[in-house]
Amino acid sequence: MSTGFFWDERCFWHAGGNYALTMPLGGLVQPLAAGGLPESPETKRRLKNLMDVTGLTRAVDCRTAPEASRAVLERVHPAAYLDRFKAMSDAGGGELGLRTPFAQGGYEIAALSAGLTVAAIEAVTTGDLQNAYALSRPPGHHCLPDWPNGFCLMANIAIGIEAAKAAGRAKRVAVVDWDVHHGNGTEAIFYDRDDVLTISLHQEQNYPLDTGAIGDRGRGAGEGFNMNVPLPPGVGHVGYLEAIDRIVAPALEAYKPDLIVVACGFDACAFDPLARMLCTAETYAMMTERMMKLADRLCDGHLVLVHEGGYSEVYVPFCGHAVIATLAGSDIAAEDPMAETLRQRQPNARFDAFISDLIGEMAETLLT
Ligand code: ZN
Repeated sequence: MSTGFFWDERCFWHAGGNYALTMPLGGLVQPLAAGGLPESPETKRRLKNLMDVTGLTRAVDCRTAPEASRAVLERVHPAAYLDRFKAMSDAGGGELGLRTPFAQGGYEIAALSAGLTVAAIEAVTTGDLQNAYALSRPPGHHCLPDWPNGFCLMANIAIGIEAAKAAGRAKRVAVVDWDVHHGNGTEAIFYDRDDVLTISLHQEQNYPLDTGAIGDRGRGAGEGFNMNVPLPPGVGHVGYLEAIDRIVAPALEAYKPDLIVVACGFDACAFDPLARMLCTAETYAMMTERMMKLADRLCDGHLVLVHEGGYSEVYVPFCGHAVIATLAGSDIAAEDPMAETLRQRQPNARFDAFISDLIGEMAETLLT
């Protein structure tokens, strides 16, 4: 069985508004010479391009998918929100919520982005594919049911999970979010439920500023089924793998999901302009390998990765390529041109020991 790669050129045509990084233009903010918002199509398009150049595209099953239907979207988003978004999109675009600009037709592109995730989860849970990567854009993990934020206009992963649940193809789902920002949308959507375990690894007090605390464990039936692993800035290869091994792995072993979905942001990489972590392409490959082993042991290998953030146009492609090659068990490599540089710039042993202690404390809090 093969690895699916779900993508669509139209997702690269989603257009943002007038920004310089995350600063609105006006006053003393000079427009950037190229691009605007860091959530630009280039981070994703260059990943697909790199896969074409190395030949990895031909080692995976490349597919597109239809836009997620209104009924599928409404399992997560209220009709009033979808109506408002669609009307504004039809009328030429605009901005809803916080930092979520879109152009004319943005609604359809967001529904397509969700549709790629829906199709990836469907193909894996029906046994059509072994595992899959959805290059969804716009991203989804910040989006609340009625309030888009952080470049996210529809909650792609939640929409995909609800579709699989409604079809009886998944009962217990674990979401592992290694985007460097807190997965506040996914958390909020499943906060009261025990049928979806949500785990978010993130840089503490980055975005959103006021969510992602370790004490936020879920509510009611969902109590204990939300886990936040807030990490200080500066964590690198060793710290991230340790967090996976000592917190994520035992949490998944205890939960026994029948599907694992990874919110795969690449903004914990060392070159990201919106965060301060030190992960490398190798870190992402090794985290993927660990998730595959867990999925093999727990749920017949049912693993879907969905693209989230990641704003280094030059380095995201190498991280993404490493993940997708690992997922496909392919030996087609895109040699990381920065590997040696980043090896030399990893945190020192003292900092790693400090992080190790911190992870130990968090494991004790979260896993008891
Ligand atoms: Zn992010």
